[in-house]
Amino acid sequence: MATPVRESALAFLKKLGVQDSAFASSGLAARSPITGETVATVRAHSAAEAGAIIAAAHEAFLTWRLVPAPRRGELVRLLGEELRAAKDDLGFLVTLEAGKITSEGLGEVQEMIDICDFAVGLSRQLYGLTIATERPSHRMMETWHPLGVCGVISAFNFPVAVWSWNAALALVCGNPVVWKPSEKTPLTALATQAIVERALKRFGPDAPPGLCALRTGDRAIGEIMVDYPRVAVVSATGSTRMGREVGPRLARRFARAILELGGNNAAIVAPSADLDLALRGIAFAAMGTAGQRCTTLRRLFVHGSIYDKLVPRLARVYGSVRVGDPRQTGVLVGPLIDAAAFDGMERALGDARAHGGIIHGGQRVAGIAGDAAFYAAPALVEMPAQAGPMLHETFAPILYVTRYQSLSEAIALQNAVGAGLSSSIFTLDMREAETFMSAAGSDCGIANVNIGPSGAEIGGAFGGEKETGGGREAGSDSWKAYMRRATNTVNYGATLPLAQGVVFDVEG
Ligand code: NAD
Repeated sequence: MATPVRESALAFLKKLGVQDSAFASSGLAARSPITGETVATVRAHSAAEAGAIIAAAHEAFLTWRLVPAPRRGELVRLLGEELRAAKDDLGFLVTLEAGKITSEGLGEVQEMIDICDFAVGLSRQLYGLTIATERPSHRMMETWHPLGVCGVISAFNFPVAVWSWNAALALVCGNPVVWKPSEKTPLTALATQAIVERALKRFGPDAPPGLCALRTGDRAIGEIMVDYPRVAVVSATGSTRMGREVGPRLARRFARAILELGGNNAAIVAPSADLDLALRGIAFAAMGTAGQRCTTLRRLFVHGSIYDKLVPRLARVYGSVRVGDPRQTGVLVGPLIDAAAFDGMERALGDARAHGGIIHGGQRVAGIAGDAAFYAAPALVEMPAQAGPMLHETFAPILYVTRYQSLSEAIALQNAVGAGLSSSIFTLDMREAETFMSAAGSDCGIANVNIGPSGAEIGGAFGGEKETGGGREAGSDSWKAYMRRATNTVNYGATLPLAQGVVFDVEG
């Protein structure tokens, strides 16, 4: 018999170093989707406190920007060490608070460790170009400088990893970080903050007070960060609805925005596909994290010639997958985050039915926990055409499947939605694979071949186009979003030739 959720969560919070002062009799109710029970009430920051935290972070910026980048990297190296030590405990807390199965909870913390490793190396690689100039005895180059306070707004479904993708990079780039986690997952945020405090303590006085701060509260606290002039860059992860509110507000004060918004990801299964591999790839991408990943596979286009081979097999997999308490071995699909998520799923399925969809699964699964928890069988929906709910993200385990006849038709269908996050093709045909990844192919930020659209690693830039917001986080050169670029031209000669042949001779 598993330890009761509340008892277990409180014990892990204590073990991870969260102080009792983080809790209060009123504030944010932190619940576990495993049982639906309230685990603790977390103290929420007032607007005045939130402002003071940002002001302190700005003070921290004035000194942190002068600390050499490799030394800043040492703080992130220590953070990585602390995360390694806390991996099992924090991973399990992710399971308790977000409802992920245990390997996914641990995987989330591993991703935090990975980005720390990446950022430590990056701290010695913040490079700029040297550029040829047309003027003799001149040198032109670009230098990258810290930008200012980095605000992070995160979603419930990656309650801690999203913070780390931003924080590890922002810190080595010379920026303080102020974090507004999802109001649905404050506990893992508190635990992460306790881990950060340990790394800061080991790092010593080079880290100014206020360098890494947490602000708990609802979206109003996020809005303060968005509007606050001292916050130079806001990385906001969440729904497209949120991005539509946050984006224009940031633009109004010319602040930088990294928007990581909703996805409506597709996969194409071509006639030559390895169907065993495709089946496994589709199953993980569509049902993993109970369909609550931004990169979850939501639309599947199967070539007409193989539809009847693949889809019945897929329906059997959907019927056999184990839904249940995510702490149990063998369970692959845990709970939905809350009642609203289940309502959204039911609505989308009703809409799909009205559009002629044939639904396999999708019902509420009883007998796992009480009425306050929401477990659903993942739904596979055969659609006569791409229409209705297929065109929008529903944050639940629903996979719509439809037939296609030509690759160009499949690519057009895939690109015909607002979101542009992730995509994939299953094919053994090189021409198809290359076309899919070409300028005429997928319009998404992520385009994979022979793997599903979800489960990225931190080495590549992560993010998407169109209604996904255009932001990039993690690997490649995403770090540039956290720094400001200066172009420097140096004249080491004794004359002053002007660019473009301009003559401006003065007497004297
Ligand atoms: P959400 O939009 O409801 O909330 C996300 C965060 O934004 C929360 O912290 C919330 O308090 C804050 N927020 C909401 N409105 C705000 C406003 N007007 N101003 C400032 N802050 C505001 O999203 P959610 O339900 O927590 O997460 C699910 C969504 O996130 C899905 O759409 C999913 O696709 C998306 N997501 C995207 C990525 C990505 O990298 N593209 C990653 C994870 C989740």
